Amino acid sequence: MEPFEFVRAAGIQDVLVAIRRPGSRILAGGTSLVDLMKLGVETPSTVVDINALPLSMISVEGDALTIGALASNSDVAVHPAIEQHAPAVGQALLSGASGQIRNAATVGGNLLQRTRCTYFRARDWPCNKREPGSGCAAIDGINMGHAVLGTSRSCIAVHPSDLAVALLAVDAYVHLASVAGERRIAIGEFYCQPGDIPSRETVIGPDELITKVEIPITNLNATSSYLKLRGRASYEFASASVATAILRDGDIVIDAAVAVGGLGTVPWRNRTAEKLLIGKQLTQESILAFCDALFAPASATPSNAYKLALARGAIHRTLRGGAEW
Ligand SMILES: Cc1cc2nc3c(=O)[nH]c(=O)nc-3n(C[C@H](O)[C@H](O)[C@H](O)COP(=O)(O)OP(=O)(O)OC[C@H]3O[C@@H](n4cnc5c(N)ncnc54)[C@H](O)[C@@H]3O)c2cc1C
Ligand code: SF4
Repeated sequence: MEPFEFVRAAGIQDVLVAIRRPGSRILAGGTSLVDLMKLGVETPSTVVDINALPLSMISVEGDALTIGALASNSDVAVHPAIEQHAPAVGQALLSGASGQIRNAATVGGNLLQRTRCTYFRARDWPCNKREPGSGCAAIDGINMGHAVLGTSRSCIAVHPSDLAVALLAVDAYVHLASVAGERRIAIGEFYCQPGDIPSRETVIGPDELITKVEIPITNLNATSSYLKLRGRASYEFASASVATAILRDGDIVIDAAVAVGGLGTVPWRNRTAEKLLIGKQLTQESILAFCDALFAPASATPSNAYKLALARGAIHRTLRGGAEW
């Protein structure tokens, strides 16, 4: 590991000043950052420990759920307000990593974890995300775990976060703070597809801190659920996952949200495709039409095309409540 300066921040202002230093990185649970520092992929000159900040709250404020950036994945997963108002969020978190990691991992850190692309994590391979302009070893390499949606000629790394997929389905907002002030971004606008600049993964600035996540309390979000398919039953990232929320009047869909994970370079959702479900019964035909629209932009390799079939099956299973298709 490269040497670095360690700053233990006592308050938010300390953090906001410290992270203006070029080459600084925030340390929350450390389960992602420290791992990458040991591999030499992350080489911060300053590490700013934010664990003393009062950002671990999970509360209902008016018509929104508020989750502090330092709330642990474990605490959020089993919180009664999450189970009541946004069950997909708890289910997504419980499906991730291991019990020990979830105890240390935070909500802010989960949203900003880096890709698990093997080539990104191994410094002797070309990787445009780690070293801009060096090439992408995955495109002609081993890519069965890589993305089929939102890819570019520069990068096909899949987005790893389960939480982000659930938050996309429930229309969450990410709150940010910097010395310039505070702002709120819809999660759907938070992540950047790789395009020509795979190293740019989100719209967050280097001098910004995630302070909290806000989830609107709605009837739709209360119906949400999360299904994750993966190579083994636990301690594994998604091959394909889906977060759904459906409101019906009788048999007829009146509102729908469907986000998928494990397939995109960013958590993936298409509101135009969702409109195909509105006013319909959830039949094999209507779900197929939705899936066709959702996956129309997909670009798969021979090794990762299976993900599309997996995701279609997961969508059918969640929307039809386990019914055969
Ligand atoms: C073996 C293993 C398996 C895993 N499996 C899964 C899985 O199946 N699904 C899944 O979703 N995740 C999985 N994870 C990822 C895990 O959930 C993340 O490592 C964790 O959530 C990161 O949180 P952290 O608090 O430890 O972040 P850190 O490692 O402390 O930080 C991660 C990044 O976020 C930045 N950061 C942290 N907090 C803030 C903040 N408040 N504001 C701004 N920047 C911030 C840091 O600077 C760093 O760049 C796995 C991890 C491991 C090690
Ligand atoms: S897919 Fe992206 S992260 Fe992986 S090697 Fe290619 S550029 Fe790097």
